[in-house]
Amino acid sequence: MPASGSAGATSSRASELIVVLLGPPGAGKGTQGERIAASLGIPKLATGDVLRAAVKEGTKLGLEAKSFMDRGDLVPDAVILGIIKEALLSPTYANGAILDGVVRTVPQAEGLHAMTAEIGKRVDVVLDFQIADELLVTRLSGRTTCDKTQKPFTGLEPGAPCPDDCGGTLVRRKDDEPDAIRNRLKVYHAQTKPVLDWYVGQGANVQHIDAVGSFDDVFTRALAAVRA
Ligand code: AMP
Repeated sequence: MPASGSAGATSSRASELIVVLLGPPGAGKGTQGERIAASLGIPKLATGDVLRAAVKEGTKLGLEAKSFMDRGDLVPDAVILGIIKEALLSPTYANGAILDGVVRTVPQAEGLHAMTAEIGKRVDVVLDFQIADELLVTRLSGRTTCDKTQKPFTGLEPGAPCPDDCGGTLVRRKDDEPDAIRNRLKVYHAQTKPVLDWYVGQGANVQHIDAVGSFDDVFTRALAAVRA
């Protein structure tokens, strides 16, 4: 381990906090992360959102990422580490970040660790959202997303106007189709689950959250775990 300390020692830098949200797709990391970010005043970084925006804009990054994303496969580690580095070095994330879906493989965890150590930062807390696969398939296949804000909704059909009145339309993400969902869960178990073991092995501050329950209940558990 580099001299900056363990991957997850509790931070003494009161105003700076890096939180890694781990858990399978559909566990609620995105919406909970949004609220945790608002509550702590630390911005959320979601590589999925960055990539979807790049696909929409048709940038080089988007063209590179699209086919991986449509299949529910992971985008190569080097691409992801580039996105994280650029973000963490920007003024937006000067006080830290709530990292949602950002660390999906052990090489990404190692890369993030090296990168944060290099710039005098570190991962303070790892929140592990726990939920059974069966519930995830039901959740994801019933999910639609606003094409403007990327906010997810359940129980609403594609084509409906976004209930937030933002002018967006609800769409079904290609990777929320049944085949892609199954592949994403397979990828999660094979490549992302070992990240949890990696953080545990590093002696990181890993907090397990029961992600089943009302939005408010899960949020209360998550916030308490960040502050523990
Ligand atoms: P998400 O919105 O987090 O479910 O991400 C959507 C898709 O973007 C994933 O299925 C991957 O194809 C890609 N993606 C997002 N974050 C990562 C990451 N950290 N590593 C690899 N691929 C990612």
